Amino acid sequence: MDCIFCKIIHGEIPSSKVYEDDLVFAFKDINPEAPVHFLIVPKLHIESMAVIEPSHHALIGHIHSVAKQLAEELGIDAHGYRLLTNVGKDGGQSVFHLHYHLLGGRQLKWPPG
Ligand code: 5GP
Ligand code: ZN
Repeated sequence: MDCIFCKIIHGEIPSSKVYEDDLVFAFKDINPEAPVHFLIVPKLHIESMAVIEPSHHALIGHIHSVAKQLAEELGIDAHGYRLLTNVGKDGGQSVFHLHYHLLGGRQLKWPPG
């Protein structure tokens, strides 16, 4: 499958890995928008949140749990952070493998624009 994040998960494209388990892979965003900016992706190729099914619910819950754990390990939990997933064209999604951005380390703006 010609998917850049599947290739990163399988080690075919190098990345700065921050976490991996049986279900998810997390790595630094190549174009960071904040001092801490990494991506948490399921190893299962799911195009976006728009095609989530009940069978994925435990996986999505696990991603949130991993995000919480990584935010604590990286020391951004005390000041706060943002976990987000862009969906489709208007959402600004550019890679069509479900991914959650974890951003922190500075005051983030709202609305994001
Ligand atoms: P999206 O715009 O789809 O929500 O986010 C895609 C993110 O993937 C962007 O923030 C972009 O910088 C990141 N990205 C795209 N290609 C690569 C890559 O090859 N390696 C890494 N580490 N990040 C990438
Ligand atoms: Zn993929």
